[in-house]
This record gives sequence, structure tokens and C-alpha cells, in this order.
Amino acid sequence: MRVLMVAPPGAGKGTQAAVISAHFNIPHIASGELLRDHVARRTELGAAVKEHLDRGELVPDSVIMAMIRDALTAAKAAGGGYVLDGVPRTMAQAKATYLIARELGMTADVALHLTASDDELLRRLQARALVEHRSDDTEDVIRHRLRLYYEVTHPIVAWYRRRGILVTVDAMRPAKDVAHEVIAALEAKQAEPRAEDPAPDDGWGLDLSGP
Ligand code: ADP
Repeated sequence: MRVLMVAPPGAGKGTQAAVISAHFNIPHIASGELLRDHVARRTELGAAVKEHLDRGELVPDSVIMAMIRDALTAAKAAGGGYVLDGVPRTMAQAKATYLIARELGMTADVALHLTASDDELLRRLQARALVEHRSDDTEDVIRHRLRLYYEVTHPIVAWYRRRGILVTVDAMRPAKDVAHEVIAALEAKQAEPRAEDPAPDDGWGLDLSGP
């Protein structure tokens, strides 16, 4: 099972990715965790990305894609499945992820899209800020991350829909209920014939101008 997660901050992407990882016994690749780990270990990469993280800005694609290539290569050696959480976050990352995965023979079976209202997302992120003290969970930065999501990440959903791999789940319920529906939806998708990979040409089978 190969899954990409697309969801606004606070939708429970990390929680659901952990459930998927355990259920299908596949590695959970979380870009935010990998980045925060670099910052905590004070690596060169960590020093380069700390400011982006603290401001809720996106880390440069080159850094992210190098990290993802390594993680997918390791996932291939571990059996070929994965759940990718936090990547792609831009259309450029979506295309780059697709090209890397295609080269490795492991393009995604499912793009899992979690949805929730802005009010609920703000509420959850503010609650998390009280417990986790993440440097990017302050109100201004949270609003900025949400705005970025709708501007640059959400348009990717249309591409996955067009490719026939999109599965959308309403995340406005307790995590356990969401998990139940996520697993059922992924198993149903796994039982369907797999959509064909688009040719990696300039058009990308991608027309975002439509409704
Ligand atoms: P959330 O989805 O709750 O915002 P994440 O842990 O996924 O949290 O990401 C935290 C931060 O890490 C982002 O705000 C951004 O600075 C950085 N980051 C994570 N993934 C990416 C990515 N794919 N591209 C650019 N920056 C990223």
C-alpha cells in the first residue's frame, strides 16, 4: 500500500498516517518530523531550515525532495509500501514526488485527502500549542500555515482526482472514527483496479483551469 496524505494543518494527518502505517505495516514518512529531528540534532540541514519552520514558511523544495528521495529509497528496500505525510505541499513537489516514485517503481495507489472546517482546525491547533509547545503553533503562524495550505497545497487535490487515486475523508470527528473510515476507504481502494500512471510529459494530464 502506497499512500500520500493531503490535509490542512490540524486535520490529524500525522495521527491517521500512524494508524495507516501500523495497519498496513508500512513506513510512515513525515516531512515535518524529519525536519524537526534535524533541528533538534543541530545538523547542517537543521540549521538551514529552522527559520522556515519557526515562521510556518515552506522549506525549499530542493531540501525536501532530497530528504524524500532517501526516505522512499529506504522504503523500497523495506518492502515498497509507504505513507507519506507532509509531502507534497506544492504542485512542484507533487510532480517531483511523482517522478522520484516513478523512477523507483513505487508511485502512490491512493492520495488521502482529509477535510475539516477552518474553525475546527484553529481550535485543534491552539489546543495542541498548549501541550506540545511547537515553535510554529502560535496563532499568527497557524493562520499563515492555513492560508498557505489553501493557496499552494490544496490545488494538488485536483490533480490526484484526475489521476483517479483520490480518496476524501471527513476529519471532523473523533480520531478513532476517522481512522475507522480511513482504513475502510483504503481497503476498498486497494481492491479496485489501480488507475494507470500518467506519462510524465509537460501537460501531466493536468488541467486545473476547469471547475
Ligand atoms: P503541519 O501539517 O501541522 O503544518 P508538519 O509537521 O507537516 O505540520 O510541518 C511543519 C513545518 O515543516 C511546515 O510548516 C514547514 O515549515 C515544514 N515542512 C514540512 N513539510 C514540508 C514540505 N513538504 N515542504 C516545505 N516545507 C515543509
